[in-house]
Amino acid sequence: MWMGNWREQIWQNLSQEWDLLIVGGGITGAGILREATRLGLRALLVEQRDFAWGTSSRSSKLVHGGLRYLKEGRLGLTFSSVQERESLLADGPGLIDPLGFLLASYEEDKIGRFVYQAGLTVYDLLALHWGHRYYDPLDFKMLAPHLKDKGLRGGFRYGDAQTDDARLVLRVIQEAVAAGGVALNYVCAETVLRDENGRVHGLTLHDRENNQRADVFARVVINATGAWADRLRAQVGQEKRIRPLRGSHLIFPSWRFPVAQAVSFLHPLDQRPVMIFPWEGITLVGTTDLDHNEELDQEPRISPAEVAYLMAAVQHYFPTLGLTLDDIISTFAGTRPVIGSGKEDPSEESRDHVVWEEAGLLTVTGGKLTTFRLIALDALRAVRAHLPEMPAIDDTQPVLNPVDMSAAPAPLTPEAWRRLLGRYGNQAPALVAAAAPDELGPIPGTPTLWAELRWAARSEGVVHLDDLLLRRVRLGLLLPKGGALLLPRIRQICQPELGWSDEKWDAEKTAYLALIQQAYSLPPRADIPDWHTMLAQKRAEVERETAVSPPAPTTNRKRVTAVGLTLAAAAVVYLLWRRSESRNL
Ligand SMILES: Cc1cc2nc3c(=O)[nH]c(=O)nc-3n(C[C@H](O)[C@H](O)[C@H](O)COP(=O)(O)OP(=O)(O)OC[C@H]3O[C@@H](n4cnc5c(N)ncnc54)[C@H](O)[C@@H]3O)c2cc1C
Repeated sequence: MWMGNWREQIWQNLSQEWDLLIVGGGITGAGILREATRLGLRALLVEQRDFAWGTSSRSSKLVHGGLRYLKEGRLGLTFSSVQERESLLADGPGLIDPLGFLLASYEEDKIGRFVYQAGLTVYDLLALHWGHRYYDPLDFKMLAPHLKDKGLRGGFRYGDAQTDDARLVLRVIQEAVAAGGVALNYVCAETVLRDENGRVHGLTLHDRENNQRADVFARVVINATGAWADRLRAQVGQEKRIRPLRGSHLIFPSWRFPVAQAVSFLHPLDQRPVMIFPWEGITLVGTTDLDHNEELDQEPRISPAEVAYLMAAVQHYFPTLGLTLDDIISTFAGTRPVIGSGKEDPSEESRDHVVWEEAGLLTVTGGKLTTFRLIALDALRAVRAHLPEMPAIDDTQPVLNPVDMSAAPAPLTPEAWRRLLGRYGNQAPALVAAAAPDELGPIPGTPTLWAELRWAARSEGVVHLDDLLLRRVRLGLLLPKGGALLLPRIRQICQPELGWSDEKWDAEKTAYLALIQQAYSLPPRADIPDWHTMLAQKRAEVERETAVSPPAPTTNRKRVTAVGLTLAAAAVVYLLWRRSESRNL
């Protein structure tokens, strides 16, 4: 798709007047580009680094309804999220796949079984399928054998889904480009251009690779820059509204930390929900939720305190596994673009998306990966005021293009083929055809095929080595030291495809390994607080509190159940109302 000198070719054709100029190559920008091309708009997307370089490659990779929104009473948001999850599962097998969730319940938890029961009932009602079930402690341990026994009251199992976030962005952008959209990575929107009425009508773009600039004009300019959104807004005189919140993850090898499905529980130190889940042959632990006060243009990285916080959860709930820092393969951190309202606890801030129009600049930010299509459609509804001739939005289209799920070509297993179809869509047969005979097997320790490297290097817009190893494939996360040991073979396959000289390869390799060390590894050990002490202090604190005031008997149960049932009933009423509304449209 993006071959040879594609970037130069696009650059030379920027001078036309575009309908839409979209800034930001994360899932929000990608979704808007995709939906705009469905409507036949002439749309250009620019991304200052690589596609999905921002938060959209650093999420927890869940496609979910968000149980937390129920706690906040946000039935509408949960409803649309679970509906999007169902659509994505239907449209993107091999990219978006079901993931079972275990919700462990312990005596020490501040949230009890009946609250979970009520929440999951509503969750399933909104998804229109009954998927959750309660297990007593013995049965629950069969599902998660390494969980600690002490205090386990049992737990629930329910269904959600997961994806490869960076590949989702890539697939959406590639489908948009195939439908006539244009996307350029490593091009930064530097300056907002305004017409004589002060309305934004273009941008000065800076190609960071070739150090060239161009003024580009569009009927509507969309700021889909996530946590960076205030930067362009500041140029039209707007005050800061984004509160960047960092979330970080630890990655363990699955043989060391085996979980067959996601396990969620309340953190022993602050009762925040934490998850441990399988992904791409490894085990992820996350996440944190903290104000991110670092420079946004530097790759975010996990702090020593976050490492200790996540290790405390691991140690507390999986003590028999004896996991230590030496078991960690890699780490990563991302920055949530959350609209700040000044709440003291970052986790209390709303995760909703917003569409703001300021001096003609349309800012679309917040929200989550799961609802990217809905966010894109909201953005386009706001665009209509400026492009009245735009055709009607058809939200019944599949989110992703259908792919031919015919039998796997030899020697691929059905699972490997399904995975390729999900990640590469209709390009999967070409990927297989381009592979050398020994490249259709997996890279040891990962489900990634060697052939994916060749394909990505040849045709997926790779500009730097980290584009290839952290986002086109995820080897940089899945393998120790970013896959350094495999670099000789990766070079053999990819250097000729990329057309890089030996000097260029060496420089890219040095930069990549430095990046892995700086942003995807553990911070210096000496800086990481001792989580054993943190846990011991918390235990002592809880014991002191219990001695002063013994725990209240569970008299709240009836009230909680009633609240849960009311919520469930409200959900059903809401659902019926939504359905009758959509029929009346
Ligand atoms: C730790 C964590 C876990 C999460 N887990 C989940 C989850 O499991 N499920 C879920 O649904 N959601 C999840 N989310 C939320 C989700 O990841 C984000 O909402 C989503 O990725 C935001 O996408 P975006 O496109 O708006 O922002 P981004 O992906 O950050 O994209 C914005 C892009 O704009 C670019 N940019 C900025 N300024 C300029 C400029 N001047 N010129 C050109 N380009 C520019 C940036 O480089 C960046 O790539 C999580 C978020 C975090 C932080």
